[in-house]
Amino acid sequence: MPYDDCPPPTRRARPLSVAAALAAVCLTAAGCGGGPETGEAGAASPRPGADAATSAAPTPTGKQPLPKGPLTGRTVVIDPGHNPGNRDHTREINEQVDIGTGRKECDTTGTATNDGYAEARFTLDVSHRLRALLEAEGARVRLTHDADRPFGPCIDERARIGNEAKADAVVSVHADGSAVGNRGFHVILPAGVKGGGADTSKIVKSSADLGARIAGHFARTTGSAPSNYIGGNTGLDTRDDLGGLNLSTVPKVFVECGNMRDPKDAALLTAASWRQKAAQGLADGIAGYLKG
Ligand SMILES: [Zn+2]
Repeated sequence: MPYDDCPPPTRRARPLSVAAALAAVCLTAAGCGGGPETGEAGAASPRPGADAATSAAPTPTGKQPLPKGPLTGRTVVIDPGHNPGNRDHTREINEQVDIGTGRKECDTTGTATNDGYAEARFTLDVSHRLRALLEAEGARVRLTHDADRPFGPCIDERARIGNEAKADAVVSVHADGSAVGNRGFHVILPAGVKGGGADTSKIVKSSADLGARIAGHFARTTGSAPSNYIGGNTGLDTRDDLGGLNLSTVPKVFVECGNMRDPKDAALLTAASWRQKAAQGLADGIAGYLKG
């Protein structure tokens, strides 16, 4: 299925368990433990413009001064996976770009729920919510795109945006497109790669820290369990085939928030209230990482 940068990853057990990740965040957070799945009854049905309401949330972007907060002076780049316009630009997004260790498509269309809620809309909505939460803590936030371009950016440009911003942390927001019954979230960490323009040696450790904190907080705020099909229930996976990670020179992870093709996960992903919890988990994880 056509999702980026999100083909079926290698199945490798990760040394760091989600329990360890949870323990890390539970030092300061009560009620950790990845509770039971919290299905969202009355999930918002996919409808055109549904995201517009959420993006109207007060986000002091642009000219308004950021509030002072614990993240003042820190820069976070949020990368909403894919672009709703990609499906109308298949020729352009199929063009190959250099990812250091090889060549890969510029971008892909992303997946969708069976009811047609596109991953590209989901990623933008969660990214808007995440931006608002981080800006409220004083962080300077930049999105790699805001559906303000016909397609893309290409995966190499997505990495470059984070690098040039000298971001303290970058999170690429996605949802997976796997088989029915495959459920839960996972965070993808950069493997150590070196080749061409790719060299992740300086970001492997910091990205692993960022990813573990996000996994722990994401489990706590959403109640979702770590993926039951990738990462051996750790909620963490490591990959060497993602251009967006290979080309990054700043700490970066991908987050697959759930499986859009599973009806139970889809019910969560299409619920605005769940997406807010997801954004909160991401924000808490990023903040935890930045505060050290
Ligand atoms: Zn994706």
